[in-house]
Amino acid sequence: MAELVFFSGTMNCGKSTLALQTAYNHEQRGLRGLIFSRSDRAGQGRLSSRIGLEAEAIEVHEETDFWREVAKERMAGHRVDFLICDEVQFYAPHQVEQLARIVDDIGIDVYGFGITTDFLTRLFPGSARMIELADRVEVLQVTALCWCGRRATHNARTVAGAMVTEGEQVVIGDVDSAEVGYEVLCRYHYSHKMTAAVAHATISQPSLNEQ
Ligand SMILES: [Zn+2]
Repeated sequence: MAELVFFSGTMNCGKSTLALQTAYNHEQRGLRGLIFSRSDRAGQGRLSSRIGLEAEAIEVHEETDFWREVAKERMAGHRVDFLICDEVQFYAPHQVEQLARIVDDIGIDVYGFGITTDFLTRLFPGSARMIELADRVEVLQVTALCWCGRRATHNARTVAGAMVTEGEQVVIGDVDSAEVGYEVLCRYHYSHKMTAAVAHATISQPSLNEQ
């Protein structure tokens, strides 16, 4: 039975590394698949991981129709045994529905990889639809760590090192402004808006009663 599986986690949890590993493992078994990504840090048509692995990928756009992508490959005489879909949080809900239909009607495995929640701790629409439809949701166990050493469960957006809680749901770092970044934090430091930069500044500032 083919499956729709969602591998989820925070940023820095190793999901792109696992996506590449999953593709590799299948290829080693003689299977052939398609790799998709959207807005990867390495640029259009790439799937890259923070630890340096990289592969070619099909860039997903608003108009991408996964059903058509698979049909096109097959019409060209290529096998499609599985799909690797990275950055699923950026896919539209109806595109996730196409993935479910591919599993059910064509019978190939689809592995989705994505961040569950945005910088305001809300589910991304693509991830929400994935959670609703997936046969299995696997929470990645490579633990991302907050600067304090606790398990990081939240994705904070930063501007010049300070956490922000307003703005568009999707702002890719380095694209719009070099100032925008992301940092994973534990829930405590997320709710106290204490990023590593803020904590560092606080610690290095001598307190008044010490003077
Ligand atoms: Zn913390």
